[in-house]
Amino acid sequence: MCGIIGYIGNKKAVPVLVEGLKGLEYRGYDSAGIAYLNEGRIRVHRSVGKLVNLETALRGVSPDSRIGIGHTRWATHGKPTEENAHPHQVDGLVLVHNGIIENYVSLKQELQSEGRKFLSETDTEVIAHLIDREEKRGGDFETSVRKALENVRGAYAICVLSEQEPDKLIAARDGCPLVVGLGQEEYMIASDIPPVLGHTREVLIVEDGEMVIVGPKGAVVKDLAGRVKTRQAQSISWTPVMAQKAGYRHFMLKEIFDQPQAILDTFRGRAFPETGEVLIPESGLSDEQVAGLQKITLVACGTSYHAGLVGKFYIEKLAGIPVEVDIGSEFRYRDPFLSPETLLVALSQSGETADTLAAVKEARRRGA
Ligand code: GLU
Repeated sequence: MCGIIGYIGNKKAVPVLVEGLKGLEYRGYDSAGIAYLNEGRIRVHRSVGKLVNLETALRGVSPDSRIGIGHTRWATHGKPTEENAHPHQVDGLVLVHNGIIENYVSLKQELQSEGRKFLSETDTEVIAHLIDREEKRGGDFETSVRKALENVRGAYAICVLSEQEPDKLIAARDGCPLVVGLGQEEYMIASDIPPVLGHTREVLIVEDGEMVIVGPKGAVVKDLAGRVKTRQAQSISWTPVMAQKAGYRHFMLKEIFDQPQAILDTFRGRAFPETGEVLIPESGLSDEQVAGLQKITLVACGTSYHAGLVGKFYIEKLAGIPVEVDIGSEFRYRDPFLSPETLLVALSQSGETADTLAAVKEARRRGA
């Protein structure tokens, strides 16, 4: 899961945003970006890979801006490229998003038919267009965000900045985490508590179906119908390291207890138990190809190999297709049986395991 961040306050926004993103790095990401308002105009900087690349891109950029948003992306729709990295800007509006918009294809078609041009392959960009459309119809910032979200189905935490109301950040969530740190003349919006702790220990937890409007007069939580909700701030006593571990003594313990949520997050927007539908459009496989699969080969090394052994159990049970699990380093030396009806799935936490990549290459060569 990626991270979102927003800052409004008395410090220069750019370094605060970059530091904030560092505090969310442990969540994993493939690209990063920030946007800020300076002299009434939005500026966006994005880069692929580690935050150090973003820092390099920001070298010499030291605006006086006191308001901005940032994002570490874990791509779900569209490759990890600079164009797909967040924030996404549409005219005078910029947005970061964590999650998946399930109905983005139909929304995108509708917006395109109105002449709107898309610059990325992401699901996220539709939300920016929807808000911009409401603003262009005369809506104020808050109403525009609310109306836009009425159209959206899926899981999201968003944070938005608009040139129309330059002293305000609006964030909202449904299915993805979001907190607001309440500091002295400063506020921070974030996906998790650690980045907030360098600024304040007073934190508001935003719930599903809620939005928060943060401006000079403070932070106001509302439901998506616009009704104000009273919310007590919590005082967090954890150190930043304890916060990353969410109160657990060890990261490993935290990750064990994170598993149910991690599995739900992985399936979100992909698997729909009510209809039995599974969506993996990036696989590029047609329904016919999937129906014609004779065998699935899972290739992996180390822990991923063990994950593969568990996967075999589930896939055979759910899909009724025979599954083989191969160790990446041996695969290409054992003359594996592969055909165009074989689906090869490579598992690698880093995506870089050399033997696993070599196995993929070999399987491609043999027509799997
Ligand atoms: N679905 C969005 C994208 O692919 C957001 C992914 C994320 O949560 O980082 O850009």
